[in-house]
Formats: sequence, structure tokens, C-alpha cells
Amino acid sequence: MSLDNHWFSECYAPGGSAFSLKIVKKLHQVQSPFQKIEVYETETFGNLMVIDGATMVSTRENFFYHEMMSHPILYTHPAPKRVLIIGGGDCGTLREVLRHPEVETVQQVDIDEEVTKAALKYFPELCESNNDPRAELLFDDGIKWLAEAEKGSYDVIIVDGTDPVGPGEGLFNEAFYNSCLRALTNEGILGQQTETPLYHMKLLNEVHGAMRSSGFKRIQTHTFPQPIYPSGWWAATMAFKGSNELPIRTDDIANKPFECEYYNLEIHRAALALPEFMRRQLVI
Ligand code: SAM
Repeated sequence: MSLDNHWFSECYAPGGSAFSLKIVKKLHQVQSPFQKIEVYETETFGNLMVIDGATMVSTRENFFYHEMMSHPILYTHPAPKRVLIIGGGDCGTLREVLRHPEVETVQQVDIDEEVTKAALKYFPELCESNNDPRAELLFDDGIKWLAEAEKGSYDVIIVDGTDPVGPGEGLFNEAFYNSCLRALTNEGILGQQTETPLYHMKLLNEVHGAMRSSGFKRIQTHTFPQPIYPSGWWAATMAFKGSNELPIRTDDIANKPFECEYYNLEIHRAALALPEFMRRQLVI
């Protein structure tokens, strides 16, 4: 990460690339027991949250990520009533999940309450549903939470975690996926942010392999734009506990009772179409 008078830059060394935003001023900084959280006011992207030097969310473009982490999985599950979000401390994913009237309960378990405190102050629009009676915000390690979760507790688990380093590292291995499998109902689906295929095909294959080894029957990756993350292009992966094909609920999407900025049925279908290099490299 580098910061001159007017620019915030995230330099992603493994990719040999960097992303910069012109900043007006720094608004906030806190070192929690888990990570360093910063918030900047930018000239053109609204506010920007950074965790341990990595861009996390900005006012202007977070809809790509929050919509594509929530709506594809929820419109694929036949009846997503009980949802768990691991991570998601900025509450953007929570807001999207709560737009679904069929969802009855959402538990959000983020390890770091300082992220949510910063979101409440600098991204209030992402926190607008936090007081929904269906929502429960908890602060704990998601790895521990799922290791202790009752069997069959959730229809959908969304892992909206940081990169596989620091507190987020243990969210990308077979032991964690075993816990997720047990905590899901028989037709349950696990969804996880799985980095960028442009730089991380090795990790993506490892995730697919670990999900499969832990007993998930089908694994499906979809991609979407993610302007402020390394490469600007991101992926999420769904793992299905049941072997039945779950059709996309096209009628429910056509009649969805809320507006999106990015997501619709065509985008959902297109996101599942994988580019040739991924088809060649992904061990399906
Ligand atoms: N939603 C954001 C976006 O729009 O791109 C990015 C993800 S969110 C900020 C990542 C969250 O994962 C952080 O709030 C972090 O505290 C949380 N996290 C990391 N490791 C965790 C763990 N082991 N258990 C629970 N939450 C964790």
C-alpha cells in the first residue's frame, strides 16, 4: 500500500499490478486485535474502506460485489429461509440478503466489530437493514462458529471473507468446508468469494478440490466485475450439498420485489459462463 498526498494505492505484488484512487482525506484508522482498518474520502468513489492495506469496499462500486455474492446463490436455492454470512462486516451482503422476502433469519458472524463500527459511520447505506428483525449481527471467528454449529442449521452459507491471509486464511480449507457441509441442510448451498481467476487459478482449483473432498456434490464458479480489487475481475464459488440440479428460480427473479444496480437473470446466466482459460484450467 502506498499513500502520497493525493492518492491511495494498493500495490498487489503477486500480480505486479496496483490500483489507485485519488483521495480528499483520511477519515478513520483503527488497529483492532485482528486487522488495521482505514477509511478514506475519495474524489470520485465516495468513501473507501481498506483492511490491512487491501481495498475492501467503496461507496461507488460495491453493488457489483454485494449483489453477486447474494442474489445468484439465493435465487438458486429453492427456499432459502435460514442464511449465515461469515465475514461481511461492512453489512452490504446482509442488506442484499434481507431484500429476499423468503429469507426468515440471517446471522452474520464477523470476527472484527471494528469493521461494522466503521461501516455504520462511513457506509450507513450498507447498514440500512441492520435493524431488520430477521437479522442477528454476531462478532466471532467464523471458523469456530461453524465448527460448533448444529447439523442442518442453515439453507445457505455465504462466506464474505477477506483474502486467504490473516484471520481469513482458515476460511479456505477442507476442515472449514467440512464444518460448512455439516451445518447445511440436505439441499444447502455454500457460497464463497474466491479471489480473481486472473491471478489465482491455483487457489481456485485448491478451493474446488477441498470443497469436493469435504463432500460437496457440485461446485460452480461465477465471475463478475470488481473495480477496486486486484485485476478488477472477481469470482465467487457455490458448493452444493445435494446432488440434485437446482434450477435458477427464473420466475422469482422476473418478479423480484427490489431493484438491483447490476444483477438480473441475464447477468446471472452470463456470470456462470466461464472463459476458455478457466474451462481449461479448472479441474471440474
Ligand atoms: N464485503 C466487502 C466487499 O464489499 O468487498 C469485503 C469483504 S468483508 C469486509 C471481509 C470481512 O471478513 C472483514 O470484515 C473481516 O473482519 C472478516 N473476516 C476475516 N476473517 C474472518 C473470520 N475468520 N471469521 C469471521 N470474519 C472474518
